[in-house]
Amino acid sequence: MVDAGEMRLLRRCVELAREALEDGDEPFGSVLAGGDGTVLAEDRNRVAAGDRTRHPEFALARWAAEHLSARERAAATVFTSGEHCPMCAAAHAWVGLGRIVYASSSAQLVAWLAELGVPEAPVRPLPIRAVAPGVVVEGPVPELAEQVRALHRRLHRGA
Ligand SMILES: [Zn+2]
Repeated sequence: MVDAGEMRLLRRCVELAREALEDGDEPFGSVLAGGDGTVLAEDRNRVAAGDRTRHPEFALARWAAEHLSARERAAATVFTSGEHCPMCAAAHAWVGLGRIVYASSSAQLVAWLAELGVPEAPVRPLPIRAVAPGVVVEGPVPELAEQVRALHRRLHRGA
């Protein structure tokens, strides 16, 4: 279940995704929260400069490995505007982070991008569960997924 406090963090992810888009990046944003719900770190997509691995979930996994104990990582939750890609799901699992809550799923993103005529990504859009079966995952949240969809439409249609 996604409660009101968690919805607030998911909304922040969508806001970060919007910031990324407005700065010329792809619209993805993520927040790392500790076991007590405190925001520990946040990031957004930064691939525009050419490094296509600069996804926010990957950055947060590395931040967590550097700054949190194993126990703190296991208690933490990553909130994100779009479900982790396989690279980020693997990083999340390798550093032993806890639950993931996403606003929109990879399956939704694939369908939206296909509709917009965007070429297929070079990485298969496996769901988190297929990559990291031990991670507890929740999402999508329909109301926020629609907002994320609008951001992708803006990126690819400019509208
Ligand atoms: Zn990723």
